[in-house]
Amino acid sequence: MSYKASTEKAFDVVVIGGGHAGCEAAAASARIGAKTLLVTHKLETIGEMSCNPAIGGLAKGTLVREIDALDGLMGRVADEAGIQFRVLNRSKGPAVRGPRAQQDRAIYRAAMQRELANQENLKLRADEIEDIILGPGSQVGGVIVAGGENILADRVILTTGTFLNGVIHIGTKRISAGRAGDPATSGLSETLKRGKFKLGRLKTGTPPRLDSRSIDFGCLESQPGDDSPQPFSFLNDSIYQQQIECFITSTNETGHEIIRKNLKKSAMFSGNISGAGPRYCPSIEDKVLRFSDKSSHQIFLEPEGLNDHTIYPNGISTSLPEEIQLKLLKTIPGLEQANVIRPGYAIEYDYVDPRQLFPSLETKLIPGLYLAGQINGTTGYEEAGAQGLVAGMNAALAVAGKAEFVPNRGDSFIGVMIDDLTTQGASEPYRMFSSRSEYRIHLRPDNADQRLTASGISFGCVGKTRCERFKIKKINLEAARNLLTKLKATPSQLTRHGIKIKQDGVIRSAYDILAFPDIGNEALSLIWPNVGEIKRDIFEQLEIEARYSHYLERQAADIEAFKRDESLMLPTCLDYDKIGGLSAEARGKLRAASPITLGAASRIAGVTPAAIIALLRYVKKSSKTAPHPT
Ligand code: FAD
Repeated sequence: MSYKASTEKAFDVVVIGGGHAGCEAAAASARIGAKTLLVTHKLETIGEMSCNPAIGGLAKGTLVREIDALDGLMGRVADEAGIQFRVLNRSKGPAVRGPRAQQDRAIYRAAMQRELANQENLKLRADEIEDIILGPGSQVGGVIVAGGENILADRVILTTGTFLNGVIHIGTKRISAGRAGDPATSGLSETLKRGKFKLGRLKTGTPPRLDSRSIDFGCLESQPGDDSPQPFSFLNDSIYQQQIECFITSTNETGHEIIRKNLKKSAMFSGNISGAGPRYCPSIEDKVLRFSDKSSHQIFLEPEGLNDHTIYPNGISTSLPEEIQLKLLKTIPGLEQANVIRPGYAIEYDYVDPRQLFPSLETKLIPGLYLAGQINGTTGYEEAGAQGLVAGMNAALAVAGKAEFVPNRGDSFIGVMIDDLTTQGASEPYRMFSSRSEYRIHLRPDNADQRLTASGISFGCVGKTRCERFKIKKINLEAARNLLTKLKATPSQLTRHGIKIKQDGVIRSAYDILAFPDIGNEALSLIWPNVGEIKRDIFEQLEIEARYSHYLERQAADIEAFKRDESLMLPTCLDYDKIGGLSAEARGKLRAASPITLGAASRIAGVTPAAIIALLRYVKKSSKTAPHPT
């Protein structure tokens, strides 16, 4: 880090990195009105998907819809580039459904680059950033480009993904790289170390890429997408992109034996990698070892694009030597003759302990520096994009001297993720799961706009088109809800229309009846034809509301109670040694995380309810005795 006396400030906010976090950060900052610069190694890799070409999935699909609700880019871009849409868990409850879309990698990249190029207040530049400039009080003052040029700015957002001291492993081969074909970044790692940030090492992996022309699809089960693809974006009603099918194959005992015999040659198992890997996205070596009773593991063969022969074999991420990868592929039905375009590999990289961040994603150690994406110990495009959006908004809001935007556990998965990261840290790559949320019946993909867009509008990060559409949807929802509660029928009238119901004399509204299982638009339209005129997305949302009204009411009360706790601010310079009744463990954990609210403190692993009560008493007592500021 170097101090540079300010000459002329060129930008309000500089974003380092053009991955999923960087794109959302830059766009959000610019939407709010900050003069923003995005600097990344290569303009042509902006929006690159380092791993599988798919957006969404369980819980991740909800994150995409939340990003979209705040006018972020990912949902719209994924709708444009989506070549196979599927709602996962469609047969299960709406809270655990996961919209997912296979992407055309090239279209995704191009659409993301176009969105950024058209964004007002935003400039793009291809370069490597080597260091960060600090001004008086260690406040960020800008960045230093490789070669020495200084760019002055009020806020800097670091979104360097797997690039910090990245090392690729293929068997015993080690290559310094940020991802295949890209250089690693070491200068910024040193910057963070000098800034006293606690860094850790994590790892992740990717499978070999195959040439579709060498695969025998004829013997494989095909997996089509949904008949009626559902867009991610609340701005889109339909999908216009051409849709394709994927295929399914699987490993077998012969392949597992090859893996077992060569386990020592796998970078993940040879002791060459020290970082922790994603437990929920294991390599094929991991799966064979951990699930030794399973004689087969499924592989989804996913095309990387409409005009691309590359196939992504989802399920066999590996760091075995290339020749063993080839041997393994020969045992898999359909892949016996497969040509490998690029071998699978594992990558190890530095990440920053996210407990060193405020929930705004500004670092506690360097004011004005924000971190977002994989650098914070997460894995996944959606997790990265969501953090980028929050960091971008907050950097721009800070420049404008406005209050920060901090989503909470009660309003979004984004809030859950940021709270988890900043209070618990990440000892392994963090990915989003519905089970991480205590309010998941409320945090659904269908209502992300109802939960977040109004707040996005008030923070100035939602454009005119979405604003208008949101208002119209709100009016339509209200009108449809009123209609359904006004339409009423007796049990005998319902029975006459084929609805099985207790003859208890209770007059029920269409909304009440919607709560019954298997009653949908069709059944209600037979009784009341005007119900059939309600738009599909509006009807679906009301159907879910009606069906879960009991749980939703209870959850709304829980969320209110949570917000009361959550809002109790803890002083930033709290001396935990002065608080009686705290165990040494709780004291150490609280000191490490320095939570800013009581709610955040209560979710730190190892901090017991008794410790929270001691903390609450201390803070309340101190606030009574503290002199009033003049
Ligand atoms: P990235 O998308 O990595 O972007 C980082 C950007 O920063 C790049 O544009 C880079 O050029 C730029 N940059 C870095 N240093 C500098 C610098 N000094 N100056 C200027 N620009 C710089 N996710 C999953 O969900 N499932 C998986 O199975 C999975 N597997 C993965 C396998 C591999 C091999 C890799 C590399 C990633 C994998 N991921 C997976 C993770 C997913 O790709 C990332 O979580 C996501 O891309 C992170 O987004 P990001 O914006 O934080 O970083």
